[in-house]
Amino acid sequence: MQQTLLTVNIEQLYSIYQQHRSVQTDTRKLKTNDIFFALKGDNFNGNEFAAKALEMGAAFAVVDEAAYYTIPEKMMLVADALEALQQLALWHRQQLHIPILAITGTNGKTTTKELVNAALSAGFKTYATVGNLNNHIGVPLTILSILPDVEIAVIEMGANHQQEIASYCRIALPTHGIITNIGKAHLEGFGSEEGVKKAKGELYDFLRANNGTVFVCNDYGYLVEMLKSIPHIITYGSKKADYIGESIADTAFLAVALRGSSQVGFIQTQLVGAYNFPNVMAAVAVASHFKVPENKIAPAIAAYTPSNNRSQVIQQDNNTIIMDAYNANPSSMRAAIENFAGILAPNKVLLLGAMMELGADSVKEHQALVNLLERNHWDAVVLVGGDFKKINHPYIFMEDATAAGKWLKQQQFQNTYILIKGSRSTGMERVLA
Ligand code: ATP
Ligand code: MG
Repeated sequence: MQQTLLTVNIEQLYSIYQQHRSVQTDTRKLKTNDIFFALKGDNFNGNEFAAKALEMGAAFAVVDEAAYYTIPEKMMLVADALEALQQLALWHRQQLHIPILAITGTNGKTTTKELVNAALSAGFKTYATVGNLNNHIGVPLTILSILPDVEIAVIEMGANHQQEIASYCRIALPTHGIITNIGKAHLEGFGSEEGVKKAKGELYDFLRANNGTVFVCNDYGYLVEMLKSIPHIITYGSKKADYIGESIADTAFLAVALRGSSQVGFIQTQLVGAYNFPNVMAAVAVASHFKVPENKIAPAIAAYTPSNNRSQVIQQDNNTIIMDAYNANPSSMRAAIENFAGILAPNKVLLLGAMMELGADSVKEHQALVNLLERNHWDAVVLVGGDFKKINHPYIFMEDATAAGKWLKQQQFQNTYILIKGSRSTGMERVLA
């Protein structure tokens, strides 16, 4: 069989997309009439599943290996299926005449995205990244999920190397952007915090070149410094900003009191930690800017409850457990510990899993956390796994989360606040299993 159709016939592909408006890359999640893109991962070759996808009811399949181009009337053979997906997403984006807000940053992207989306939903038909689909596949899939009646979309963009955010911007064409913050994470890919700054700054670069608008937390001098020549800037924070709020974080749950001329008022959130203050303020700023009625903003933000072990509060017996086992890096660990120190509670215990992907800085960063811990009195501290093993500290060390869980059970704490946090791979949620 001779196949020649290797460049993406984007108009044909787009007309197929318009008939179905549903794209899938995983046969396990396939629905009838989806368009299947045969992507390649480390352990799989999507091409092998293309014919099966059609059998299962997919409307069409895009493959990039001639050997799997077996049903020409229902397939398109392209040079690179991932590139075809990205091109289709860009094409679709160009047909959508709506604002798109891109959110990147080291910590708090998903939380900020959810809060912004909740607040915007009180006034608009919105679409936001589902879960954490923030990479080279997730970003195009997110764009292709934006239906024609959507008025504003919110897209999370993650990155662990340079030029990644720039490439997502070239697909999503954001009109608005937020860098939540810049801290230490994925240092193996970025080299240094300066490298992280440059990578996240690619969002500002795009907005600068395209008459875009940045929402920025004015409390972060390092972000403010990066704003030079951004056409439109809207600020939020705890002082001197367009939207000013005060963070009240002496209980497990954060409350925010809006100051200045804002009529948004008082927001009792279901989020743990003062570190969520900028995330909440971002939602206030974005929703206010887009003119969501002010009396609808606070209730929308207050109604949002996080999931997936992102700073959840669990009441167990008479203990209050702050479960933040979703992920950890030096800046989010620091924020969590400082927040925990500020909570007014009779007894406090911490179980902290090691941080990963820190490269040459790893031991130093674990040591810095121990130094931070030593500034406060805690009733007990358990450090779990990884490079916590390599440093000197006065705390209890356990090999893994299961051992830490057994320890916790034996203690039979009462009236105690317990913070559980660690890198994804330490699986700190198992402490409660
Ligand atoms: P990922 O890189 O995995 O997509 P993310 O940036 O989307 O993460 P979230 O999922 O919103 O971040 O939050 C993950 C954790 O980061 C939270 O549970 C919390 O511990 C911490 N965090 C959230 N917001 C902030 C913030 N503004 N500053 C510091 N840490 C934060
Ligand atoms: Mg996320």
